Amino acid sequence: MFFATGLSITAGYHRHFAHVSYKPIPPSGSFYLVFGAARCRTPFLNWASDHRLHHRFTDTDNDPYNAGKGFWWSHVGWILFQSRAEKQLTNVGDLMRDRWVRWQHRNATAIALVVGFALPALLGGLTTGRIFGMLLWAGMIRVVFVHHSTFFINSLAHMWGKQPYSRKDTSQDSWWLALLTNGEGYHNFHHMFPLITGMEFGGFIGTRRNGLIRSLKSRRHDAEASPCPASAHPESAHGSRGPGSGKAPSGNAP
Ligand SMILES: [Zn+2]
Ligand SMILES: [Zn+2]
Repeated sequence: MFFATGLSITAGYHRHFAHVSYKPIPPSGSFYLVFGAARCRTPFLNWASDHRLHHRFTDTDNDPYNAGKGFWWSHVGWILFQSRAEKQLTNVGDLMRDRWVRWQHRNATAIALVVGFALPALLGGLTTGRIFGMLLWAGMIRVVFVHHSTFFINSLAHMWGKQPYSRKDTSQDSWWLALLTNGEGYHNFHHMFPLITGMEFGGFIGTRRNGLIRSLKSRRHDAEASPCPASAHPESAHGSRGPGSGKAPSGNAP
């Protein structure tokens, strides 16, 4: 459950949906929506909207997790004290056209209860007979651990680490945060190259020595020159996409 929910946030919510940086193999898009909901956090459309704002307005008052307000605000304070009533979700119109995203948004709580808690308890009962042990470890403790390891990306990954790619904002690269978060800890790299997926560990293997960074910088400039949902124009629509198939019928926002 820890791996499935963490992967759903990194590969699904973040790279596929919020950044539209790749097209997943069916039915992995649906998997990401189901297990992303099992993480029991902010509704997905709110998450994607906040993340696009974070990239567009990093370290400013328009950045929901503005690291300039300190560790506790960027770690968890913004979730507890930020007004949800002000959220207009105007920058996720492209995601709202996806019927599976709308389905997940409507049923997020039910999915979280069934997949995030009932499923581990059932599997625990069937395999070991320890229903409450699995509910505790694969349900409750897993939620706390996944939450805080990913919250660290908004807090510590903007405070501690190195900035090998850019100093234009406070994002940092941290190998130990990357180990906790499927590579997300290479956050300076991500802010510099938000459309490149799966290359976060490039910093770890020393890409600067073999000339790869030069080509990545070229790619970033190409990306900035064209409309991009997360790095340049977060509110731009990108047409209908199914979470797994790459196509989905268009429809109204939820
Ligand atoms: Zn960031
Ligand atoms: Zn991002």
